Amino acid sequence: GTILVTGASGFIGAWVVKYLVEQGFSVRIAVRNDKQGEFIENRFPEYKGKVSHINVPDIEKDGAYDEAVKGVDGIIHTASPVVWSWEDPEEIIGPAVRGATGILKSAQKFGTNVKRVLVTSSTVSILAYDYDGAAKPGLTFDETSWNTLALELKHDKSSSPWLVYQTAKVKAEKAAVDYVEQNKPAFDLVTVLPSYNFGPFIHQTGKDLGSTLGMLVGTFATPDTTGNLTGDWVDVRDTAKLHVLALQNAAIGGQRLAATNGIFAWQDMYDILNDAGYDAPGKETKGAGKTKQNTAVVNTKTFKYFPDFKYHPLEETVRDMGAELKARGFLN
Ligand code: NDP
Repeated sequence: GTILVTGASGFIGAWVVKYLVEQGFSVRIAVRNDKQGEFIENRFPEYKGKVSHINVPDIEKDGAYDEAVKGVDGIIHTASPVVWSWEDPEEIIGPAVRGATGILKSAQKFGTNVKRVLVTSSTVSILAYDYDGAAKPGLTFDETSWNTLALELKHDKSSSPWLVYQTAKVKAEKAAVDYVEQNKPAFDLVTVLPSYNFGPFIHQTGKDLGSTLGMLVGTFATPDTTGNLTGDWVDVRDTAKLHVLALQNAAIGGQRLAATNGIFAWQDMYDILNDAGYDAPGKETKGAGKTKQNTAVVNTKTFKYFPDFKYHPLEETVRDMGAELKARGFLN
């Protein structure tokens, strides 16, 4: 079959394409321009004749995905802004929400073969990080909870980019779920909710790595060596594999699946990078991350549906990421 992948030029999307091809799928990628499309089509020899691109320059436009969905059997929608500066919060919330609902509308109208649409949400859609009401040690959340705090926040130009991102993700997921409930398309919807992704990367990058890779590299300049800044994390390869597995598992229509593997502090990553011989910050404060705990997301349902799924351990994820960061000049 053929699967449409959006956001294929990104950190997670690039791995999704790779695993789909490895599983024997043909992949149509929706990108903003030919240059991006051609880069990905030629990324690996095995993509030849298997990966093709279609340009969708503006995912907010009505009917943006009408052509892209024609003839595909399934859709993995990962495209959504993961940036931490903007002029207006609508630059983040608009594409997140209208992209997710727009692709469902197009699929219902023109995607006559589509059996499942998978939308990449985030654990921020489960849990409000970093502000009152959530970050309590020992407290856990699972796939059944919604970040209603971020859902209800009103934003303006002075809002925190982190909270705007949370609102964008939870609104987009909610809008997708509501769309399917109200419009009852022939396909079903699965949302995948990863925590902070780390690991090696195969997408084209510029001076700013963007996404969570950019966040990590940003901390090299102003490191958190107290171990106090923590979050949930997952290997990007595991996130992508879970997307591909979730697309094919008939039993999980309508579910939310968390892709997450525990809590990290930036200092934990510095320790692994330094031990592997890279020049990361936090040499003097080795071990300071280990003792810290915070509110965590647990992926009960994911393990229910994929009991044998093995996540990469943090050491392996960070070592593999270190090699790629060094190869691309972001780490010595
Ligand atoms: P990247 O920034 O690496 O990739 C984002 C992708 O979305 C790119 O392909 C980008 O295209 C596309 N995109 C962004 N904004 C737009 C837009 N306005 N119009 C069209 N395309 C757009 O991020 P990730 O790969 O990390 O994120 C992918 C998805 O996973 C997102 O939905 C994100 O919210 C979600 N996620 C990510 C997590 C993480 O830790 N990284 C954790 C949880 C969820 P282009 O290259 O053209 O900019």
